[in-house]
Amino acid sequence: MKILAGISYIKAFSRLFYPVNCASCGLALVDGEKHICTICQVSLPVTGYHGLKENPMDNLLKLRMRVDFISSFLFYDQGLSTQNMLHAIKYKGNKMLATHLGELYGNDIKNLFNHPLDAVIPVPLHARKLRQRGYNQSEYWANGLAKSLSVPIDHSLIRVNYTTTQTKKTRTERIKNVEGAFKIQQPDLLKGKSILLVDDVITTGATLESCGASLWNAGIRSLNIATIAFAAK
Ligand SMILES: [Zn+2]
Repeated sequence: MKILAGISYIKAFSRLFYPVNCASCGLALVDGEKHICTICQVSLPVTGYHGLKENPMDNLLKLRMRVDFISSFLFYDQGLSTQNMLHAIKYKGNKMLATHLGELYGNDIKNLFNHPLDAVIPVPLHARKLRQRGYNQSEYWANGLAKSLSVPIDHSLIRVNYTTTQTKKTRTERIKNVEGAFKIQQPDLLKGKSILLVDDVITTGATLESCGASLWNAGIRSLNIATIAFAAK
């Protein structure tokens, strides 16, 4: 009895630090569930775009640069679950949820790349924004993908311009806003590499396009893109 009391004390104590409610529906998690409950996990609003011949995301970037693979794990606008999860990831410090989703999606897309991947690269935050938020949510998504794809993470892409929020901008304004915002430290090291560039949400693709342009300039061999969510505009 004493041991049991001890266990529940430890459990209660650990729950002070680890969220115990489903990040999607808010109901309490049971033992064995991580971050999202089983019901939410099996009913995630997945795009399935990675498996389609006619991928609706293709025309986001492919008209302007070569992209060998582009897909998102989830729809942003279908129901509240993706929005709740992204809110938890971005503003409530639930970084490990991003990693969990990355692991799930990495398993889905494992065998779909034309060139074996050499590195996963998260879209970086500007140093000032990183200080404000304390972490880069895309990096935790990248960690999960890197783990299930067995590919290392590369941090040579950096953000040199502090940009204002993209949310209320048109596509043209967004492209202008992020033009030249990214640089690559030691571009020689990326030459000939097959890259999986990752971010949390793709809307118009302006940010990923700017990163992609820097990567192609560094002489990469293949550009692939995966985001947690697709918010169609
Ligand atoms: Zn749930």
